[in-house]
Amino acid sequence: MTVATTTEATRARLTVDLGAVVANWRSLCALHPSGAVAGVVKADGYGLGAASVGRALLAAGCEHFFVAHLEEGLALRDALGLGPMIAVLNGFPPGAEADAALLPVLNGLGNVRAWTAAARADGRVRDVLLHLDTGMARLGLPPEELVQVAAEPGLLDGLQLRYLMTHLACAEDPANPLNAAQAARFAAACAALPAAPRSFSNSSGLFLGGLAASDLARPGCALYGINPTPGRPNPMRPVVRLDAPVLQVREVPAGATVGYGASWTAPRPSRIATVAVGYADGYLRSLSGRGMARDGAGRPVPLVGRISMDLITFDVTDHPAIRTGDFLELIGPGNTPDEVAARAGTIGYEVLTSLGHRYARHWLPA
Ligand SMILES: *Cc1c(COP(=O)(O)O)cnc(C)c1O
Repeated sequence: MTVATTTEATRARLTVDLGAVVANWRSLCALHPSGAVAGVVKADGYGLGAASVGRALLAAGCEHFFVAHLEEGLALRDALGLGPMIAVLNGFPPGAEADAALLPVLNGLGNVRAWTAAARADGRVRDVLLHLDTGMARLGLPPEELVQVAAEPGLLDGLQLRYLMTHLACAEDPANPLNAAQAARFAAACAALPAAPRSFSNSSGLFLGGLAASDLARPGCALYGINPTPGRPNPMRPVVRLDAPVLQVREVPAGATVGYGASWTAPRPSRIATVAVGYADGYLRSLSGRGMARDGAGRPVPLVGRISMDLITFDVTDHPAIRTGDFLELIGPGNTPDEVAARAGTIGYEVLTSLGHRYARHWLPA
């Protein structure tokens, strides 16, 4: 008999299936025969571990990675070695140690000028990605800056354009006319620039058919099992499980209230299971009174009362077998990040990137 340590019995377990991440990447590759498929691993691999996810994808043949921040890029370079391309979506200034190890995404004319100046100063050509804004109005050269690039000969001197890229605003809604409009604007913008490979599609874009073809797709969420086709069955394999232990089970009489604000009143004599996860672990407080877990048999167990920092409470009156030490599934195949998000009033991306740092994390090998 093995005796669980106190730590094991009181700590929630987060399990990341790297085999599922790789399977998801391969199925996205099959959807994108026109070009390569990168791995977007910003925000620590959408909360699931950029180094672990990155190594699994690299071993599967993925040669392009995207992060948001310089520091994320440096950490990923350490994890992956010198081989793959690592591009930094938010850009970074030339001259940093990262200059040689990472590729900046240039998001405006100011970025372009800074990098050409650096190339002119030391005579070394810089590999960059150039981001064109075709409808997000967030980052990327807007149309008027593009006109200026075309009008000012030599503005791109010293830069090797590894990819021209743009980003879709509404790809998860295939009926939205902005998808085709962005594709057309991107094609026109690229035609006004020196020829270079193109990078167009995020996860959902890969499900838009021929419209999304480019030399390099940039999926993130679909790798991690989030449904890139909302409203239709999820074509991706689930990646994440979160199982949390019951610390105590108590009987309360009808009329008793549970938790902060006494927001839930037992309508009958009830059994309340207290579970070791809270909003400090990224279990969103908006799930108060609306969350759901699954018991060992996959049956739904309703969350009652408010989410505390470190604890949540479930009504297990109809689950007489549940005992202290049992684990409830908070995220898993029967309680997907998208379903948790819908109950919390947010999107699966936020559920994953909020996952906290107190879980015992396990990565199932690819
Ligand atoms: C986050 C991001 C992606 C990945 O988007 P998903 O919807 O997660 O597939 C791709 N490109 C850019 C510029 C991004 O910011």
